[in-house]
Amino acid sequence: MRLAVLGPPGSGRETIAGSIAASLGVPCLSLADAVQAEMRAKTPAALQALKHMNAGELVPDHVLLSMVRNRLTQPDVAAGFVLDGFPNHAVTAVALDAVLFDLGTLIDRAIDLVLPDAEVVRRLAGRRTCRGCGRTWHTEFAAPARPSVCDRCGGELFQRHDDNPDRITAGLQSYRPAAAATLNHYRASGKLTSIDATLTPAEITAKALG
Ligand SMILES: [Zn+2]
Repeated sequence: MRLAVLGPPGSGRETIAGSIAASLGVPCLSLADAVQAEMRAKTPAALQALKHMNAGELVPDHVLLSMVRNRLTQPDVAAGFVLDGFPNHAVTAVALDAVLFDLGTLIDRAIDLVLPDAEVVRRLAGRRTCRGCGRTWHTEFAAPARPSVCDRCGGELFQRHDDNPDRITAGLQSYRPAAAATLNHYRASGKLTSIDATLTPAEITAKALG
């Protein structure tokens, strides 16, 4: 089975994608993983990407796509894979479909982890990070015994810049339209399964594979 797991920041997407991949016994791939694998293998596409990165430029979409293509031809994904967080605005669902078609395969199902904006903010804005050990806490869901003090190392907790509500809202404003295009693509082909992201990871995994 070949799945794409999609969802906004704070939806637990990485955890769910990993859990589904483990249930299926197939690799879980993010775009960053695909790029890193290519970099390690020093493929022509990776060298091209590196040239852009060294020049302080974004890696062009077609270079990203060729790295994804290379990754999807590796033997470990022959029996299936779970994509974590893509297709997206850079590697689009249409472009990915074309690559997979060319490789004689397709995406069977796309999972949409549904989480309203207000809940995304609630989940992310409550996060606190320890200056000492780097562990992440949450004022509501994983609160330390004493506020602002890490239970593990006694370090001071702080809110990362990215976890500030204004930054989260700005991130959502760029995420939602790009995600809508991907979701519409899979909805139109009847492959989209929408699941409430506030359920437990086990419940979500069961629904995703049900
Ligand atoms: Zn700590």
